[in-house]
Amino acid sequence: MTVRLRVAPSPTGDPHVGTAYMSLFNLAFVRREGGAFVLRIEDTDRARLNEGSEQQIYDTLHWLGLDWDEGPDIGGPFAPYRQSERLETYRPVVEALLESGRAYHCWCSPARLTEMREAQQKAKQPTGYDRLCVGKTREERAALPGFSEQPVVRMLIPDDAPLSFADLIRGEVNAPRPDDQVLMKTDGFPTYHLANVVDDHEMGITHVVRGEEWIASTPKHILLYDWMGWERPQFAHMPLLRNTDKSKISKRKNPAARLTWFVEQGFLPEALRNFLALMGYSLPDGQEVFSFEEMVASFDWSRVNPVGPVFDVDKLRWLSGHYIRELPVEELASRLVAFMGIDGAAADVVTRATPLVQERVSTLLEAAGMVGFLLDDRFAMDPEAAAKQLGHDARPVLEAARGALHDLTSFDTAAIEAALRAALVDGLGLKPKHAFGPIRVAVTGSTVSPPLFESIELLGRDRTLVRLESALN
Ligand code: GLU
Repeated sequence: MTVRLRVAPSPTGDPHVGTAYMSLFNLAFVRREGGAFVLRIEDTDRARLNEGSEQQIYDTLHWLGLDWDEGPDIGGPFAPYRQSERLETYRPVVEALLESGRAYHCWCSPARLTEMREAQQKAKQPTGYDRLCVGKTREERAALPGFSEQPVVRMLIPDDAPLSFADLIRGEVNAPRPDDQVLMKTDGFPTYHLANVVDDHEMGITHVVRGEEWIASTPKHILLYDWMGWERPQFAHMPLLRNTDKSKISKRKNPAARLTWFVEQGFLPEALRNFLALMGYSLPDGQEVFSFEEMVASFDWSRVNPVGPVFDVDKLRWLSGHYIRELPVEELASRLVAFMGIDGAAADVVTRATPLVQERVSTLLEAAGMVGFLLDDRFAMDPEAAAKQLGHDARPVLEAARGALHDLTSFDTAAIEAALRAALVDGLGLKPKHAFGPIRVAVTGSTVSPPLFESIELLGRDRTLVRLESALN
């Protein structure tokens, strides 16, 4: 059997980190088995649609290096891969289910459904549709209160619906009894439950790998497969990513739930890939730093831990720093230049500064912050650093440094260091810390910077003197 797996994000805003997490695990299995990975856009929830979100899904997954074999952007044998373009596929299924009595029209208005649910809650009964519409014609139902013109279509869940299923990660799973799920909404769009099953069947999906929040829905999906006489796929429900307080990671509470956050923060994609893999996966030898290829080589569902992994950004930072130090310096420089969106002379000086920061940063954002002083339009004086280092005592230090650098014949690191030591340490009798602290802040705008003398060389004499001057003023 050739395996076919899919990830099926809904384009409802900034892509969720869970989409990357699911893609990674789906893809690891596909690459191990040699099958196809499908990207399907589930855009049937018209109210939550967000323009631009679909493109962001493509961009962030590409950034992460997770590529799909079929999808709306590249086509494939089962196109279209956008559910809104597949409405004709769902209708005949709904017709067939209505015909066979597996599904029924429901004309209950939203107001009636709310009332019903509130009454059930008050009476401490389980909530769920009370089947007022079952077995009624439109006319019969119209005579009762809470009727709405446009019906939905619901599943008639049988008493003996199968509630347990085999999960590749969890073994035998028991799910609660489902409600009479809406399959087709009043706007003629299918719900997720219908569209997802129809598409997984039509697209030949062999393994449905998704988040644990869908466990409760799986019995409904299984019923649909069985009713339609379709072969069930295998299921694997991945653990939910959790905040450090163990709550489900959500875009509202945690910026790290947004995939674009990792791009903005300048984490290396290979670090995020490794980090997401660690969320539930471990290599046989327990090593924590590993590549996607190593994950693929050892991949097995039995190695996935179903217990909700904690999303610890400090760990990611550590990994990202590790990968930054492993990069060839030219590669790091070109990534940093691209991250900063610079070219020409600015790119050149940042490239030359890159070796000075490689050991000191864990993200491209930190690196950009450290080298930004080299670009006049990004130089900014940190007021706290200025208050600490550029008080009255600093005046003689800055003046002496200005004199020493002004007269220097060759403006290189060694000469700069020698001249400043002679002027400040020997000349003014200052301890190095007191001598160079004010210079660092005047020149770089911060108390943390790449090594000082190298920084001054990169900045050049003219700009260094201008900055000493303006600190003096
Ligand atoms: N559209 C669903 C989601 O975004 C897909 C769930 C599934 O993979 O079945 O969570």
